[in-house]
Amino acid sequence: MTEPGDAEARRKVGPVICYPVDTLPRPDVEAYRAARAGWEKVDEVIVPPREACCFRVPAGSFFRIVSIEGPQVGDLNLWSAGDISERFFSGKTRALHGTHLSTGDQLWSCLPYLRPMATITEDTLDWYGFDEFGGSVHDVIGTRCDPYTHKLLSGGDEYHHCCHSNLTRALAHSLGRPKEEVEPAVHDVLNVFMCTGFTRDTGQYFMKASPVRPGDYLEFFAEIDLLGALSACPGGDCSAQHSSDAAACHPLLVEVYRPKAPPAGWAPPPRNGYSRTHGA
Ligand SMILES: [Zn+2]
Repeated sequence: MTEPGDAEARRKVGPVICYPVDTLPRPDVEAYRAARAGWEKVDEVIVPPREACCFRVPAGSFFRIVSIEGPQVGDLNLWSAGDISERFFSGKTRALHGTHLSTGDQLWSCLPYLRPMATITEDTLDWYGFDEFGGSVHDVIGTRCDPYTHKLLSGGDEYHHCCHSNLTRALAHSLGRPKEEVEPAVHDVLNVFMCTGFTRDTGQYFMKASPVRPGDYLEFFAEIDLLGALSACPGGDCSAQHSSDAAACHPLLVEVYRPKAPPAGWAPPPRNGYSRTHGA
């Protein structure tokens, strides 16, 4: 199409932030961090390469996802422990906090509940910022590698050690329910340690080798009782590919910590819902 005469003028219109967050209630990260003094490690789970594991974190406790052995990306799902229909809402979290998360950002639950499920209290990769390609770590722009997209693009067989399948098996195992039944509860992830962005020329989703190294971690405070699942992506550090057994893969460690007392001033966030305010 030919450009209209005022094309440049239209392009020059400045952007407006969709969701200004000045009015968003912000967590008191310093109070959260102070609550770590004297905390006790109460659980740990090692997620094997190309597999996923579930873990539970009570409201008011912390959990860490730790890189061990080598650079590795993790795909995280979160559900309300008492009702898995309330789950992490990657899209709204992105709308509120941007494409990549770090300290002070919160992971919001799906509609109609829309409340913080977890708050990021420490990120050892926060120094990375945005690189020259527009890449950064811990994105909420990807979805998760899955057998169906892989088959669609490659024409080959379904690959069932991708994150979607790993998360499905882990959730089924944790709840003692069939895989087919729980598969729809698996949702778009927080891509822990993954380095991603959109190409400037074509706007395509890209990945590059994760800057994570053993000892790095991402730490969360559980705002509500959580059931989590973490997949050690078959892409490894996601420097080249995923959805195959080709990449070097490493385990990931999940640690759960119980503080001596909840952070000062903290209370579990209430759950929204139409029927709660407007009757059935
Ligand atoms: Zn993956």
